[in-house]
This record gives sequence, structure tokens and C-alpha cells, in this order.
Amino acid sequence: MTDMRVVFLGPPGAGKGTQTKFLEERYGACQVSTGDILRKAVRDHTPLGKKASEYLDKGELVPDDIMLNLVAERLRERDCEKGFILDGFPRTVAQAEGLEGILKDLGWGLDSVFCIQVPQGVIIRRLSGRRSCRKCGSLYHTVFNPPRREGFCDRCDGGLYQRQDDLEETIAARLRVFEKQTSPLVDFYRKRGLLKEINGVGSVEQIRSRVFQAVGEAAA
Ligand code: AMP
Repeated sequence: MTDMRVVFLGPPGAGKGTQTKFLEERYGACQVSTGDILRKAVRDHTPLGKKASEYLDKGELVPDDIMLNLVAERLRERDCEKGFILDGFPRTVAQAEGLEGILKDLGWGLDSVFCIQVPQGVIIRRLSGRRSCRKCGSLYHTVFNPPRREGFCDRCDGGLYQRQDDLEETIAARLRVFEKQTSPLVDFYRKRGLLKEINGVGSVEQIRSRVFQAVGEAAA
């Protein structure tokens, strides 16, 4: 697929970050993870980070107007001209509608929306073992995808950490937020004929091959 312009939907822990990184490597499209952008802003103590941190800590959504401005700016950057993979955005119907306006202004449209489906029990096991690299953002799991050296990234040797919002109380809040605010997007995109559903249960490799197959079919 050239100039891929796609969205990845799915509950927290569905594998969106892991799988969209694979797609970025394979297709050269730019992965735009709003969660990664916000976490970096919090780490760097930027004005955006200051506004966003309380929402992130509680597992709640950052307000739509902030998110829409952030994404509108990000998609205008040069690296998105060769295509983009949105990971974690949109998360509300207002964001999805706003995204349509942003893309219209840019003269683009969405090719497909992939929804990774995973039952709740699997999500909780995945999120509680998830670890991320502080330096390059690579993702690991203590049981399902451990690094070669415990606590350190295989790719860049950066230190691994557990996200604050992957603690058990916050996971429950994030799942509630997903059900209420984000799951209506499945119908929103189904009605537009863009939705492709992917079974997100299995190993990272199994899901990767399903994702590549779905993306390949969508491009054909
Ligand atoms: P993620 O890494 O996608 O799970 O996002 C982590 C956190 O960042 C979420 O729990 C929200 O607090 C915030 N966030 C990320 N993307 C969005 C979005 N599109 N809208 C609102 N909040 C977001």
C-alpha cells in the first residue's frame, strides 16, 4: 500500500502500539501514537504535558479540543506526507468527526480503520505485565514478550518501566472509558464502510500476520 492512511482502534492492551510499529517498519508510514506524544509532553514538562498529566494518571481522556489541535499539527508535519498510522486516536465520536475535517483540509481521506478485538480478561493480563522502553518506546511483556536482558531494551539498551496507567486500578478505569467513549467508533466507521475487524487474541507474531493480511487485503 503506498501512502497508507489508516486508524487502529481497540481497547487498551489490544496490541495497537506493538502492531503499528511493525507496520511503520514495513510500509514506511508514520506511526502517530497520541499516547506516546502525551507521555513525552508530560516527561518534558511542556504546557501540553502539564494540561494532560492529570488525565493520564487517572486513565481518563484528555479533552477533545486539545487532542484535535495536537493531531491537526502532527499530521501537517512532513513525515506524515508518506502516510500515517493513527494509534490511539480518535477515541471519541467528536474526535472522529474532527479528524474528517482535518483530513478534508489536507485533501486526504482514510483508507481503512482496523479494529483489534480482545476480551477483557486477556487485556488485564496483558496490561499488568506490559513494560516500555524509556528511550525508544519499544514494548515488552514480562511473560509474553520478555526482553533478552531483564529490565533493558533489546533494541537500544534503554531502561524498561511500567506505565503509571498500567497499574490495576487505572486499568479498570481505562476499560470503562473505552466501553463508553471509544466503542461507539466501531459503528461510526462500519457505517462509512471503512471498518476491518482483526482478532487480537494470540501471540504477537500471530496477530502480526493477521494485521499484515488485513492491511494487504485492504490495499488490494
Ligand atoms: P494510550 O497510550 O493510547 O493508551 O493513551 C494513554 C492515555 O493518554 C489515555 O489513557 C488518555 O489519558 C490519553 N490519550 C491518548 N490518546 C488520547 C485521545 N485520542 N484522546 C484523549 N486522550 C488520549
